[in-house]
Amino acid sequence: MTERSARTRSRKLLAALEVAYPDAHCELVHKDVFQLLVATVLSAQSTDVVVNQVTPALFRRWPSPKAMAAASAEDIESTIARLGMYRQKARHIKGLSQVLLEQYQGQVPSSLEELVKLPGVGRKTANVVLGVAFGSPEGVVVDTHVQRLSQRLGFSKETQPAGIEQDLMTLFGREKWDIISHTLIFHGRRCCTARSPACGACPVQQLCPSAFRAEHVGRKKGSAASKKK
Ligand code: SF4
Repeated sequence: MTERSARTRSRKLLAALEVAYPDAHCELVHKDVFQLLVATVLSAQSTDVVVNQVTPALFRRWPSPKAMAAASAEDIESTIARLGMYRQKARHIKGLSQVLLEQYQGQVPSSLEELVKLPGVGRKTANVVLGVAFGSPEGVVVDTHVQRLSQRLGFSKETQPAGIEQDLMTLFGREKWDIISHTLIFHGRRCCTARSPACGACPVQQLCPSAFRAEHVGRKKGSAASKKK
């Protein structure tokens, strides 16, 4: 397949998925950009479902950078203790709240350069905030679903998030960099799951290069299916 036809097929695939999931969006519950930033920091190595179970109590007690910065680390820890790495995450959200208060008048900055200087905020978290809250991502957020789906759909042959992100940024225009992640995550959670992709019921089955043979494509090394290989 030529580069041009691969690009055409990729764009058709994304367009079909956007039709299938017109309401694809960030599933971390938040009321403002500060809460989005905190929820995204908390979501590292944790599912959105568990984060959404923890954040209502967290934001009820400490809804703003000012309140969070003044909280004790121990109190934050006990509120988010269901999450992996909760001690480190508690330190990060208290620390980033202090920086927002001291350097940004309690506002969340809107540039990648400033966001990645906040405690616990890497490029991925920054791009979630830039895409969802500001509509101006500087890259594509590649989580485990985006990683797996990009490989299965033929968007990328890379195996690491950084390489996959570069391929997605090359294949798709900047205006798609935010929605592509949400759309692939929706499809990955609802249909093209890691272990049992539902190819028979898939809305892009006709276009997908991995249809009916996807179990071993895009799985992480060490997963059950990979070990069976
Ligand atoms: S056809 Fe199968 S492998 Fe391809 S996107 Fe659909 S569920 Fe995933």
